[in-house]
Amino acid sequence: MTKKVVVITGASSGIGEATAKKLAAAGNQLVLGARRESRLQEIVAAIEQAGGEAVYAVTDVTSSDSVKALAQKAVDTYGRIDVWMSNAGLMPQSELIQGRTEDWDQMIDVNIKGVLYGIAAALPIMRAQKSGQFINTASVAGHAVHPASSVYSATKYAVRAISEGLRQEEAIAGSNVRVTVVSPGMVATELTNHITDAATKDRLEHAWADNAISPEEIADSILFAVNLPENTSMNELVIRPTSQK
Ligand code: NDP
Repeated sequence: MTKKVVVITGASSGIGEATAKKLAAAGNQLVLGARRESRLQEIVAAIEQAGGEAVYAVTDVTSSDSVKALAQKAVDTYGRIDVWMSNAGLMPQSELIQGRTEDWDQMIDVNIKGVLYGIAAALPIMRAQKSGQFINTASVAGHAVHPASSVYSATKYAVRAISEGLRQEEAIAGSNVRVTVVSPGMVATELTNHITDAATKDRLEHAWADNAISPEEIADSILFAVNLPENTSMNELVIRPTSQK
């Protein structure tokens, strides 16, 4: 297998961390972005201890300059970007009547703008290389809306729409850039920690406790999509716990 340079946002915990470790163990060079520096340092140390290669840049995906700096870190360190995974995300769900506008702003800024800033930073580099792959983390909540999920679902529908537009544009351009959406169901991570509405938090934490699969199980499928031949693009992975209704 060829060694790839893989950039992951939201790499400090959960799906991003598990994917970084799995892809590094498979011989790829990892560039990790998130806000919590101590977590990134621990993950880079664990990857290196296991014989892998990784660097990090403290990154806030709500700032396009910060996301550009993450891309620059990859180019400065490893000379290229083969895979860009926009995975940073937040899920503070609540019913619309509560008017939690700060939560709405955060979800729109991180879940949508973060993905767009990743494209702005990495696509010109991939075009110049004439190869690359975007992996954008959406959700099964980007396939269906439930009470309290409206805004989160809207952001994840947006991730799927942006990804499909990118796929079509790059196919027409003949740039050899692949686009993969990952739509997980319930996965045991820190995602539910940041829900500000107590009733929704309690309801979702119970559902997660009963059903969630591990982030490593999502990472296995991402590794598979990355390792497909260059002329083959796995466009969406929908991965639910078998028990999730
Ligand atoms: P975690 O809470 O464990 O991870 C979220 C990651 O996003 C963290 O690394 C966090 O890092 C990062 N992040 C949040 N805000 C920012 C920001 N402004 N800038 C940079 N990084 C940020 O949850 P998951 O691993 O579950 O979440 C990963 C993705 O998976 C999200 O997009 C989520 O919506 C999606 N998803 C998760 C599901 C689940 O059941 N867990 C189901 C479906 C989709 P830091 O705080 O250090 O910045």
